[in-house]
Amino acid sequence: MHSRMIIAIDGFSSCGKSTVAKAIAKRLGLKYIDSGAMYRAVTLYFMRNGIPIPDSDELVDFPFDFNPVLDKIQITFQVNPATGLSEVYLNGENVEQPIRTMEISEQVSHVSAIKTVRKKMVELQQQEGEQGGLVMDGRDIGTTVFPHADLKIFMKADPMIRADRRFKELVSKGVEITVEEVISNVVGRDYEDSHREESPLRKADDAIVLDNSHLNQEEQVEFVVKEIEKFKVGC
Ligand code: C5P
Repeated sequence: MHSRMIIAIDGFSSCGKSTVAKAIAKRLGLKYIDSGAMYRAVTLYFMRNGIPIPDSDELVDFPFDFNPVLDKIQITFQVNPATGLSEVYLNGENVEQPIRTMEISEQVSHVSAIKTVRKKMVELQQQEGEQGGLVMDGRDIGTTVFPHADLKIFMKADPMIRADRRFKELVSKGVEITVEEVISNVVGRDYEDSHREESPLRKADDAIVLDNSHLNQEEQVEFVVKEIEKFKVGC
């Protein structure tokens, strides 16, 4: 049963979704897909190629056809043999590093609000899940991408705790940034992701909430594993 499970992990920015998702995927031998990385890769393509990015108030009737651009974008995943984790490729280039910059974080919520971008990404994400056996994290996985997922987790944490974790992570990577800039980005993305027209971030009715404000990584993984264990009882 577990080998075919689809597990959807959604939630706010910098909640630690990917850390939990990777750990669960490893534990159960499932594939892991970071759907945020796909939107980040599209954003990188837009920025590198000077594609106009509409603000949220410009989205309706924005005078640009994104379809020809999207036709030129190929997003794939390949497992890194050193880590056993899948990494994102943009037109054949491994872009795991360049998609994690603040410049991308500042634009990604605008790009991910574009209807045609979402349509293409959701199709790709659903293809990844065709065979089952997948943990995917994002914002709309339990509501739009896999509304029939076997298990849906909705992660949240105090915004200041999230911003502090993200700040420490960026500083440890040598990024020069202030904590205020990180707070503004995290809170701003949450707002945009929750208020957009197309599949906004929201908890699916049947999702289980995991508030990890005061939980360490091990405790979070145990929380999800306990939910998965319930499937054993069920089958
Ligand atoms: O997960 P991460 O923070 O890397 O996602 C970056 C951005 O991609 C989010 O802030 C959101 O705008 C967008 N996203 C989305 N739907 C998803 C995953 C990410 O709109 N399923």
